[in-house]
Parts: sequence; structure tokens; C-alpha cells
Amino acid sequence: MRDYLVRGLALGGHMKVVAIRSTTTVDAIRAAHDASPLASVALGRVATAALLLGSTIKGRQQIGLQLRGNGPLHEIYAIADADGHVRATCGEFKVPTPATGPQRIAPAIGLGHLTVTKKLDAGDAYNGTVPLANGEVADDLALYFLQSEQVPSAIGLGEKLGPDGVVAAGGFMVQAMPDIEDEDLGRVEARIKALPPIGELIALGVTPEALLDRLFDDVEVLARTDVGFRCPCNREHFARVLCTLGEAELRSLVEEEEVTELTCNFCSKAYTFDAEQMSALLYGARMYEEASAREKATPEPEPEPDAS
Ligand SMILES: [Zn+2]
Repeated sequence: MRDYLVRGLALGGHMKVVAIRSTTTVDAIRAAHDASPLASVALGRVATAALLLGSTIKGRQQIGLQLRGNGPLHEIYAIADADGHVRATCGEFKVPTPATGPQRIAPAIGLGHLTVTKKLDAGDAYNGTVPLANGEVADDLALYFLQSEQVPSAIGLGEKLGPDGVVAAGGFMVQAMPDIEDEDLGRVEARIKALPPIGELIALGVTPEALLDRLFDDVEVLARTDVGFRCPCNREHFARVLCTLGEAELRSLVEEEEVTELTCNFCSKAYTFDAEQMSALLYGARMYEEASAREKATPEPEPEPDAS
């Protein structure tokens, strides 16, 4: 069964709605990082939420969702684009799963913040940050929408793990338009409260459309988008990262190791550079240092978060 999301309207156009099945996507992220059950749930939940956010952007924009706390996971970070691609990473892929199971991730995140980053076409990023509501992602994101964007929202996220990986993942997000009636809001809230766990529903074969039909009587689907795990990293990206280390650092790497290996945080793919390739990069490192020296008078741009 392919993963996809549906986007549309409900309550006579007064509510924006989106729902997603992300089972295969989340399992692919789990497999790429060989993540523990708890880390798989955490990565999957944030990746699914990022895809829901991705349905709100257009064109070549990307949206990043990060939860950062003082727990052993340290941070979970997912980036989605408007075409339904997502990638995700966390601070500790092998975080142990408690005896109570992997479903509650808040203790592993601890106290912290949620940040949404919108990367616009021009490369600008807009950041909004809120303290974590409960560290289980869905309510944290709802708090973000209320505080940062003044949009009353409800979000549901869920996943189910089997012995061999993720057997179900998905969620929904509903957002009230400014002209919504309180009575309508109350009815939706009651239906959301009555919803069984989303992981269980998806595991039973409930589609994104059917998920929305459980919440509203008049869903109008406007678009369907296939979603999946994809990391855009490549060798050139990591070659550039090495160049930014500078000539001296590159030389010491060549002296220390026969082969320099860099691993992508978002897909765990390893890129290796042998001594010959490293010497070729020395020229690039020199160019980079000269360019940085010229730009020293101007403020440095924010480093890309995926540059490992
Ligand atoms: Zn990658």
C-alpha cells in the first residue's frame, strides 16, 4: 500500500483538513538508521508531522520540524518538501526502549522546545519556537500553531510497531478558519477525543480519507500527494563540507586516516574519500579559506543544519 496524504476542506469550508498514511515512509527511515523501537517512533512521529506541515507549503520550499530537549534523544529533526519527500534524524538512534513500550517518547525528549523552520525559495528561513506542551509532538505542534500563527489546530499522530519494524503510521491535522463557529469547533473536538489510537486505525486499513470522514460529515478532498522517504544528499555536498574545514584540518585528516568517512545524518549513508581524493579537495579548501577571508567583514550566514 502506497503512502499518501489528502488535503481538503470540511465544515462548509471553515476547516482546513489533511490526513496521511506514512507507514512505508516511517519504516524506511527506521531501516536507514537501524533505529531502536523508541527512536523509530520518535523519528516517525516527527517525520509524519513534517509531511503534514509540508502540505501547507508550495513550490521548492522546505519545512523543518525540530524537537530539542534535555533527554537522551537530545533532538529529533525532520525536513519535508512540498512534493511529499521527508528525511529525519535524531540525536541517538539506539536510545533504549522502556519496559512500558516505545509509544511514549516525551521522557526521552525531556524538557525543551519545538521549532518550525520554513526555508523559502531564496534560502531565507522563518523560525517559530514554542516550549514543548507534553513532548509527544502532536500537542506540541498544536501549541506552535496557536502561539506562533494564531491558528486553532488539532493534530493526531500515531504509529504501530511489529517485531520487524513499523506496521502502521499516520496522522491528521485540522485547522480552523477565522470565521468558524464555536459550536462547530466543539463538535470536532468531541469527535477527535472519541477517535481510537491512530496507529491502530491505520493498521486496520483505515485510509487517510476514511480518517477524515470519522471527524467530519462533509470532507471535500482538494489534492492527493504521494509521500516517501528521500534524502537529497550526495558526494558533492560532503566534498563541500570537507572544503569548509580548511586546508590545515584537511591535511591533518589525510595524515591521520587512510580514508576519511563522513556519514549523512539524515539517511546514514557513508561517503568515503581516499588520500588522493582528499588532496584534490585541498585546492577547494584553499579557495574556501580565501573567500571566507574576503567575507570576514560581513556577518556569517547561518550554517545549514544538514551539513554534518
Ligand atoms: Zn543523506
